[in-house]
Amino acid sequence: MTAATGRHPPRAYGGAQHRIAKPVGRRGGVVLMPGHAAREQGRTLFPSTVVHASLSPRVLIDGVNQRKIGRKVTKGRWTGMRIFTLTLEERATCPRACQQWDSCYGNNMPYARRHIGGAEFEAKLDAELMALNRRHPRGFVVRLHILGDFYSLAYARYWQAALDRFPALRVFGYTSHAPESEIGAELLRATLDRWDRFAIRFSGAGLHALGAETIERDETTPHIICPAQTGKTDCCATCALCWGTDRTIAFLRH
Ligand code: SF4
Repeated sequence: MTAATGRHPPRAYGGAQHRIAKPVGRRGGVVLMPGHAAREQGRTLFPSTVVHASLSPRVLIDGVNQRKIGRKVTKGRWTGMRIFTLTLEERATCPRACQQWDSCYGNNMPYARRHIGGAEFEAKLDAELMALNRRHPRGFVVRLHILGDFYSLAYARYWQAALDRFPALRVFGYTSHAPESEIGAELLRATLDRWDRFAIRFSGAGLHALGAETIERDETTPHIICPAQTGKTDCCATCALCWGTDRTIAFLRH
């Protein structure tokens, strides 16, 4: 509060998400050991958080609920657009080759609501995108996927069709599909063709452009380190690098 007015000072956009407390004092994330059921069966550590679309109040969640995402873009070509996030089940929707299979960030997210992919999920997603397209005609952003990945070629293509049908839609996110795989090639083609609205990066693919690499905290890197992890910005909403530069972004291991 300010002494003069007795009110809280105005917050910049990207500030409100601080109602979600940062984890303090955690040393490293959970890593599944060989033989662990979630690792071997390819599922989340928290199966009770996996929901069918028919039981979920909504699949697209306001970015304000994710401390690292933020509510509204304040920088770059998508300035002013609201951000929404989508979460699927980690491992169950991911390629087995993912380098973070054992150490997925989802191992540290016991409360995230994970959606089961498929026709009913896509129908619900479609209805929500349609509503957002109406409500935000100047643009809105969807962050894919907080957890999980493009679970089929048809689902990767769904997003291409969605860009055609919903002109306000913008997308950014990451995939563990290799760019030379069937799904990866589809995503790479779409990203190259529609970079102004579709910015998907390839995790762990060793790329110098359109990549996302996990590095150790003391490791040197030729890539840009995510500035939200080094305290140089608040969150994606105040950063915009992932859809503003094609240079690979490095993320410090949790
Ligand atoms: S580089 Fe910026 S936009 Fe990308 S994840 Fe980090 S904070 Fe978000």
